[in-house]
Parts: sequence; C-alpha cells; structure tokens
Amino acid sequence: MENCLFCKIVKGEIPSEKVYEDESVLVFRDINPAAPVHVLLIPKEHIGGADELKPEHSDLIAKLILTAGKVAEELSLSNGWRIVTNVLEDGDQTVRHLHFHLLGGAKLGDFGLKG
Ligand code: AMP
Ligand code: ZN
Repeated sequence: MENCLFCKIVKGEIPSEKVYEDESVLVFRDINPAAPVHVLLIPKEHIGGADELKPEHSDLIAKLILTAGKVAEELSLSNGWRIVTNVLEDGDQTVRHLHFHLLGGAKLGDFGLKG
C-alpha cells in the first residue's frame, strides 16, 4: 500500500535492520526500542491492524506467532518474552500496518511498556 511505512520497509525503500525474512513475514529491529530486545514482526501483505483480520488470515497469524517463538530462541530470550499488538487509536497504534512487538531481554515489568 502506498504511503505505508512498513510496506516501504518490505519493498526496501526504507532501510531496516532485518532479523528474519521469508516469503510472507519480515522481522526487523524497532527503531526506538522499549526493551533490551525489541523487534517487530509483520506480514509482507498490507493488513491495517488486528481489527482488519479475516478468517483467511488464520494461517498467516499462526505463522507470525510461530515465527515470534523461533526469533525469540535465535535472540536467546530463553528467560521469557512478550508479544503485543496495538490496535487503532485507543490501542496506541502509530503505524497502520499490522505488527507484533516482540520484547525481551529483561524483566519487562520494569519498563512500563506500552508495546
Ligand atoms: P505501534 O505504536 O504499536 O504502531 O508501533 C510502531 C512501532 O514502529 C514503534 O515502536 C516505532 O518505534 C516503530 N518504528 C517506527 N518507524 C520505524 C522504522 N523506520 N524502523 C523500525 N521501527 C520503526
Ligand atoms: Zn503496509
């Protein structure tokens, strides 16, 4: 989708620090980390947010969450981690392309996280 920041990252028009990529999913470091480890998992396909999900996205969502586990392992988050998705205005969503924050590397309660 035009003028979508994360679609531009998918297309390589905006640089990102990639952690994992396959045909449908991209994982990259958050530019403003809220925890020692903070990456974003996104579908390459543009979906505005969790509010736009349809039954046909079930496999994609399962894959994103399975990928979170795989990336958490690769990033040595053996002590635990969290995934968060913010939705629309009251949910503090600032980028309107579905993304899961994967956070870890410390006891997260100490960070006062919004995601
Ligand atoms: P949210 O507020 O839940 O929509 O999350 C958007 C996230 O995207 C924030 O944590 C931002 O720090 C992050 N972000 C914004 N621009 C970039 C960028 N160019 N590269 C990486 N992360 C970004
Ligand atoms: Zn997009």
